[in-house]
Amino acid sequence: MSQSTIEVAGGSLFPTYARYPLAIVKGEGSWLWDSEGNKYLDFMSGIAVTNLGHVPQRVKEALVAQLDQLWHISNLFQIPNQADAAKLITDNSCGDAVFFCNSGAEANEAAIKLARRYQQLVARNGRYEVISFTQSFHGRTLATLTATGQDKVKEGFLPLPEGFTHIALNDIELLKATITDKTAAVMLEMVQAEGGILLVDPTYIKQVAELCKSEGILLIIDEIQTGMGRTGKLFAYEHFGIEPDIFTLAKGLGSGFPVGAMVAKEALREGFTAGSHGSTFGGTPIATAAVKATIETIVEEKVVDHAAKQGEYLITQLREKLSGCSFVNEVRGLGLIIGIECKEPIASVIVEAQSEGLLVISAGPNVIRLLPNLLVSNEEIDQAVQILTKLLSNR
Ligand SMILES: *Cc1c(COP(=O)(O)O)cnc(C)c1O
Repeated sequence: MSQSTIEVAGGSLFPTYARYPLAIVKGEGSWLWDSEGNKYLDFMSGIAVTNLGHVPQRVKEALVAQLDQLWHISNLFQIPNQADAAKLITDNSCGDAVFFCNSGAEANEAAIKLARRYQQLVARNGRYEVISFTQSFHGRTLATLTATGQDKVKEGFLPLPEGFTHIALNDIELLKATITDKTAAVMLEMVQAEGGILLVDPTYIKQVAELCKSEGILLIIDEIQTGMGRTGKLFAYEHFGIEPDIFTLAKGLGSGFPVGAMVAKEALREGFTAGSHGSTFGGTPIATAAVKATIETIVEEKVVDHAAKQGEYLITQLREKLSGCSFVNEVRGLGLIIGIECKEPIASVIVEAQSEGLLVISAGPNVIRLLPNLLVSNEEIDQAVQILTKLLSNR
């Protein structure tokens, strides 16, 4: 593909993304190739999507087999793959009921709708308000961008839906003071990823879970970026000894096949009835074949343990190699979601890393975000750390 083809393609598209002038055309494991044949070590995984690396064999075989059988059937029929995929999720989590959709925003939209409908029609307390947190990110639909605690995603989209409040994270007294008799749910990420790799405080989240329970408020955990083994547990809430009432999945759920899920506890099942929510494409035979193969691979091949081990190795290497680097403030993370917070904007570091053959992304202006796939090797980690050390030490 020539440079001009890329520009022509851009010409017919909305300018919703600030795209790099690279067309990635092939991937395998931790590696990507562009249209000019250049090779890159992928430490962003399509933003925590290709958690099993590019074109993972077992998921590919499941998709190819399903492509020969059946692509689409309405949710008015039984869909065996969907039931199996849901069982794999509930067998491996605190959840009991799954709704499949096609993206993270849709999963969070479903979570907000379920929370409201449960409070209004099952608990019958008229509660509708959702408390979420500054620096959070929950998606781009009108309700989920309203839940998002960053002004930049809201510009120009007024009026926003009612019933959303934002407060600072990790301040339990502030949360207590914000709760009213209209509070239906508290919604948060265990690691605010888009917000800058900001970790929830372990004591705080335990207090939040207890407070929610005692007040009849639903705890919604957005696991869209942190789920599917990313943090060294299958779901990030497991680190903290708590159980959400609802959690949401998308990014890594189908290893790159677009699919999302909203998962809830048994008590919430009756919050939705036939016709109260739905999606034409939610949980198609193909999408849920990808989910099944992804979870089977993660569980049977002990991918979560490997992610925990490699996360420890990566963060230790980074802290050691960058310890004398005056441009770096802090390296922090959980498992294989790691941020290098710098003293100044890092947009140019990302472009320089690309020319060195390493793909990384930002999380806010000053944080370099590392999201390698969960099967990444020590050698690949060493290579990435070497490139980053070289670039950051020169500043
Ligand atoms: C990516 C992301 C979303 C939105 O997912 P989409 O598939 O882009 O709609 C929501 N929450 C978190 C935490 C995310 O990282």
